[in-house]
Amino acid sequence: MLPEYFEFSLPTKLVYGAGIVGNIEKAVAKFGKKRALLVTDAILAEAGPVEKVKNGFKNTGIEIVSIFDNVPPNSTLKTVQECAAQGVANNCDMVIAVGGGSVIDTAKVANLIMKKGGKVQDHMGAYLLDSNESLFPSIIIPTTAGTGSEVTKVAVIADPDNDVKLPFAEEQFLPQLAILDPELTLSLPGKLTASTGMDALVHAIEAYVDKEWSPASDALALHAIKLISDNILIACAKPNDIEARGAMLVGSFLAGVAFSHSMVGMVHAISHALGGVYHIPHGLANALILPEVMEYNLDARLDRFADIAITMGISFPEIITDSQSIIKTGKLDILSKIVKKTELKSLQQVVENSSSAVREFAVKKLDSLGFVDQWVRKNAAYAGIDRIRTLNRQLAFLTGIPLNLKDAGIKDDLAKIDQVADTAMEDGSMLYNPVEPKREDVIEIVKAAYYRKDTPLKVSEDDLKSAAEKSAGEKAMKSVFKDGEQLYDILVGFYELLKGDAELGPALSKTGLCVQFVYKNPSATITIDASGDELKIIAGDFSGSPEVTMTMDADFAHKFWHGKANLVSALTRRLVVAKGNVPKTLKLLPILKPAYRLYPQYLKDKGLADLIMA
Ligand code: NAD
Repeated sequence: MLPEYFEFSLPTKLVYGAGIVGNIEKAVAKFGKKRALLVTDAILAEAGPVEKVKNGFKNTGIEIVSIFDNVPPNSTLKTVQECAAQGVANNCDMVIAVGGGSVIDTAKVANLIMKKGGKVQDHMGAYLLDSNESLFPSIIIPTTAGTGSEVTKVAVIADPDNDVKLPFAEEQFLPQLAILDPELTLSLPGKLTASTGMDALVHAIEAYVDKEWSPASDALALHAIKLISDNILIACAKPNDIEARGAMLVGSFLAGVAFSHSMVGMVHAISHALGGVYHIPHGLANALILPEVMEYNLDARLDRFADIAITMGISFPEIITDSQSIIKTGKLDILSKIVKKTELKSLQQVVENSSSAVREFAVKKLDSLGFVDQWVRKNAAYAGIDRIRTLNRQLAFLTGIPLNLKDAGIKDDLAKIDQVADTAMEDGSMLYNPVEPKREDVIEIVKAAYYRKDTPLKVSEDDLKSAAEKSAGEKAMKSVFKDGEQLYDILVGFYELLKGDAELGPALSKTGLCVQFVYKNPSATITIDASGDELKIIAGDFSGSPEVTMTMDADFAHKFWHGKANLVSALTRRLVVAKGNVPKTLKLLPILKPAYRLYPQYLKDKGLADLIMA
């Protein structure tokens, strides 16, 4: 499906590279001779990025004639006015921003005042400049990953006298050049890495679900979600990891382009209000409000929230839609592979020779099972919200970011909640939210984020592995069981251990489920039967009829019991083929979690420590 209308343009040239600010002569040559005002803040002037940038411009035609380093976090109207005055006083004809969103937005609006004159407030609004009007050329160098402001047409400036953040939007705010150098973000402290990173994630998520979505911003938003969710913990835990820092910076840029085209929604409306009224840092407010608003919007954009969840690594089996599409699209090569494997050659022939009428009949039959797909998608979408909450908790563990608005600095017991709600309801971002916002719902969302009692969550070594490291680890163990006899010895023994476990045994019995595992390479069949009075583990032939049969490679089972395999993803990829009541089987997963701890210990006790996966 496509929207009725959409636009896309990005006039900004962008260069990326670790250490690239030291090598920008070619990229900036087109600007010729210029007198630049460099806009930054006091911390960056000390922390190193500004020095690096100054050195980078040394052998270029651009002379940095003045530095304005007085930008506070959440820059104000007064700061912008002073910054512009400094640029005018020094006859500057170019603006360079080196900093986070506060610096970049100050530079954008200061450029406007330098060119047009007047007070900052006079220029508040959207697209007041004619398309033939221009500002001074600008170069933006972000030092947070972050706002994506280097590629957005907007700027947000605080008006502390009225407790609001004012929006400005002009096409001409887009710089001629953006320079992304992850080395400049290495000095960003953990808490800021976490909160600014979550800001970028919110941009991508809101761009993907809000009313003005477009195919271009969808593509950018989803990849941004992947880059950020894969790397944010690593960037916080290992601040010098240049790969993770780079991925965050690129994710922030992609999210910036995405939301600059499709806008943001309710999360931003509430965060802007919290920033204006309670001075909560923008990224942190976004991180805390995000899961509450995702829940609020979930039903209106179920499929899109499921897409987000999958992009963040949560997988689920598209059992019904897959089989439908195989038949509908005639991709019988895929089907024939599955069919061959399961030795149902006659079915293969029927399908291959079937007329379109037969196919249509099959599709209709499968349609009646569509509710399973819907059920699974809804669960995946909810799992995405859980993933965000988990991410916040893990970031709190790594960096100490607060997990509710009370700890984030609201000390008056939400006395100004009405002001927050009124300000949020008037925010332009509300226009794009997929659900029409109600004032009382905003109040409930703010309260939920204020009273939330989440606690920091320990981050595992596995969470801190890059995607490349994870897949390298996965390849490590092949043909674990040398023959069927060894497989039975190990896995039947393990299942007996689970049966005898004080927690797992009764939990498995309670399911009443009869599950059969059919292993390949080597071949073996084990049935766990909880349908009767007693939980039974049966090796080999089974005379009853299992409610679910799961066929998989034996290596997959070995990995699964280490807690390192994603069953739902394996179902989607057909690494595991499940026959029977799949939703019921998936409900086993939370029950089985304690078993992942037991399996390596069991192998060790059996004298098989060499089979334990690293
Ligand atoms: P920020 O610019 O306010 O910076 C936060 C702090 O981080 C500052 O103290 C700064 O000195 C420090 N810092 C930045 N980079 C550093 C580095 N490399 N090393 C050490 N310290 C560093 O934070 P932000 O989240 O990037 O920007 C927030 C502002 O951006 C808000 O005003 C928000 O409303 C605005 N914003 C704008 C857009 C847009 O498209 N224009 C989008 C989102 C947010």
